[in-house]
Amino acid sequence: MRDEDDYLQINGIQHYAFCPRQWALMENENQWVENVHTVEGHILHDRAHDNKLKETRGEVIIQRNLNIISNTLGIVGKTDVVEFRRNSNGICLNGMEGKFIPYVVEYKKGKPKTDNSDILQLVAQVVCLEEMLCCKIEKSAIFYWEIRSRVEVDISINIRNELIKLIDEMNSLKKRRHTPIVRMKSRCNACSFKDICLPELSKIESATEYINRRLSE
Ligand code: SF4
Repeated sequence: MRDEDDYLQINGIQHYAFCPRQWALMENENQWVENVHTVEGHILHDRAHDNKLKETRGEVIIQRNLNIISNTLGIVGKTDVVEFRRNSNGICLNGMEGKFIPYVVEYKKGKPKTDNSDILQLVAQVVCLEEMLCCKIEKSAIFYWEIRSRVEVDISINIRNELIKLIDEMNSLKKRRHTPIVRMKSRCNACSFKDICLPELSKIESATEYINRRLSE
């Protein structure tokens, strides 16, 4: 039986998917960095969370800042926005007439990424809601501020499996309190942790590499 104190935070999933070392610096070494990008991201999330927690627009009930959990995956967190859309194949909601299907909307400051990091965080929220509400969610979306529009995401079996694999890896690192070594890539240039991580030091050769190089000269 998993201890709830050991549950992974959903907002860490995006960090791990971007770079496992970045997530481990936060998780294992309590490092956190604020820069202009992270602060702008907080402001955007605050806006998503700040309005009335619940409102109705036409056929859609909008709920903000929901606490969510999956005991199956051992993850916990909050949503930005969940739209409950009227649908005869959906679920009943307390005090509401009719049936609804949840549609999660996650807010991001930037633009769509080439990796799956944002999508995996969205899927984690979907899986939590499915487990809590006993329903199936096939689509949800990420709103990107830079392009001022939503990108709809199919919650496919492949992306669900990718999430399960990633959570296994995160739990393994967390259990061992292991912080992976630097693997310098182009992503390091945009990383808010680069002043703590110092990825450029990885370019410096080790003592063994130095000796081997000198012996071969
Ligand atoms: S600087 Fe590079 S290696 Fe270091 S945490 Fe950021 S992305 Fe990861």
